[in-house]
Amino acid sequence: MRKPLGLYLHIPFCNQKCNYCTFFSVTPAEELYNLYVKGLRRELKFFKQFGFTFDTFFVGGGTPTSIPPKVFEDIIKIIMEELAIESLKEFTVEVNPESLTDDHIVLFKDLGINRISIGAQSFIEEELRFLGRSHGVKDIHKAYYKLREAGFKNINLDIMFGFKGQSLKSLGYTLEQVIQLAPEHISTYSLSYEKGAIKDLRLNDEQVLASMFTLNKTLLENSGYLRYEISNYAKPGFESLHNLKYWMHNFYIGLGPSASGYYLNGKDLLRYKNTRSMVKYAKMEREYETLSPEEWLLEEIFLKTRTKWGIEVKGERIRKKLKRNLENI
Ligand code: SF4
Repeated sequence: MRKPLGLYLHIPFCNQKCNYCTFFSVTPAEELYNLYVKGLRRELKFFKQFGFTFDTFFVGGGTPTSIPPKVFEDIIKIIMEELAIESLKEFTVEVNPESLTDDHIVLFKDLGINRISIGAQSFIEEELRFLGRSHGVKDIHKAYYKLREAGFKNINLDIMFGFKGQSLKSLGYTLEQVIQLAPEHISTYSLSYEKGAIKDLRLNDEQVLASMFTLNKTLLENSGYLRYEISNYAKPGFESLHNLKYWMHNFYIGLGPSASGYYLNGKDLLRYKNTRSMVKYAKMEREYETLSPEEWLLEEIFLKTRTKWGIEVKGERIRKKLKRNLENI
């Protein structure tokens, strides 16, 4: 029997654009929901033919909480009707602190969501404003405690570091605040710059950046979080099963504009990337590439070496694995 895949859904809506962000998103609007659902139905019909099963489902974006709970519910139910996602081990949704409502929380429980990822980024008001975030520090606390009260036992906080104006002291303060909340998982991403972002906010001092990496590791590991990937820390047993699919080079399907996927079609290892246009998404436009054995090997190396488990370096082992991979997964 084939191994279950990971499923990702990109919700391409945000109420406002953060200064550093290049993820695809548009302002929520009824006619755009209609285009989105049209494309989604097409994608689901397409993937249904493969008979894939899934054990992780990650709803990200964009901002999943920027759309009304009813729209969110309809979207998830459309997916549930078409794909085999009844035996999920992990079902995550990303939330933004200011747009998470009580109705969203009730709905997440009803839908069986068991992991929440909060985009906190910083616990300093001026830094949040500098990043262009639409929430304040109070919103993070409010969202976190409401989710705990509702019974969520697996929460991640996203933190950002390496932007202009941030210091080792301010990063240390943010990390202490996060540790006090005691989420099960913490992601600390170094801010990068890509064309299309509103501003280049990168801190251009490699020595300070290196010290920030070390500070993350020291403070978080001293507080019982284990680093299992370059930017990810978890209490034992709370590593993200979905994100591990990417880093361990497992197969996954991405739905929604700008989403990507990786799966085996016959003997071909396929990667695809969906369009970043809502209109083209409604017609299911995407680009495919077939991975050669050499490309597969390269990916195997650069993905797995991100994790604490690394990769077996003996040539013969890798060759055998490659052969097995292409023969049957
Ligand atoms: S960082 Fe998140 S909330 Fe901000 S614009 Fe990008 S996707 Fe939207």
